[in-house]
Amino acid sequence: MKLTFLGVSSALSVGYLKFHSNMLLETDSGKHILIDCGGDVRHAMFELGYTPKQIDAVFISHLHADHVGGLEWLGFSKFFMENIQLPLYIAPELKERLWNNVLSGGMSTLEYKEATLETFFQLEALDDNMSFTLDNHVFKLIKVPHSYSNNHLLPSYGLLIYGKQHKVFITTDTRFALEELSSVYQEADIIFHDCETSEHLSNQHSHYNQLITLSKEIKQKIWLYDYNDCQLPDALADGFLGFVTRGQQFEF
Ligand SMILES: [Zn+2]
Repeated sequence: MKLTFLGVSSALSVGYLKFHSNMLLETDSGKHILIDCGGDVRHAMFELGYTPKQIDAVFISHLHADHVGGLEWLGFSKFFMENIQLPLYIAPELKERLWNNVLSGGMSTLEYKEATLETFFQLEALDDNMSFTLDNHVFKLIKVPHSYSNNHLLPSYGLLIYGKQHKVFITTDTRFALEELSSVYQEADIIFHDCETSEHLSNQHSHYNQLITLSKEIKQKIWLYDYNDCQLPDALADGFLGFVTRGQQFEF
């Protein structure tokens, strides 16, 4: 499998062509799965030569616009230009709000009927382990703590991907949560980790100054992404694999 970072930036970064932290995973048989679909995605895909036609499925981690803001564009593109309902993988608890709170305003009205999420997307079921299988590879959703609203957790779902040679954990947006994530940190061979680098703490992301406290064994598996536009620290010197750059590809 090949993972391409369409973007590496945090939600609020503008103008540095680093784009939102969305990725494209190509399976060994050539299927392309978009991992998150933020507001930047059509430009990020264009910059790397990808079009909606090449997208075979989409996974959504959570409902912030840098992860779902491009879904109307993608859903409309597949529906109107190819007459296809794009396969959609998403945690069951997020489905209703994806439609009611994010997409229905722009997508519910078709000329001849009122559309639903299923009009544009083929909702793919997860098994009892919150996993799905695609091209013989298992993708396990890992619930990570991200935002709270009135003390109610609004999680994100990372992915633990069982590649041919390596297990890869993509955290998506997560707070620093060593206790909750330590077993996945242990299990994974390579970790792509949310990493805030700004001086202004959002408290919803893992900050570099927190990640640096992880053990040497864990840090040496970690690539950092979802960072801010600022001077970046020397991640290699601090024991990480480095900061991912836009367009960078990984095979596993
Ligand atoms: Zn988020």
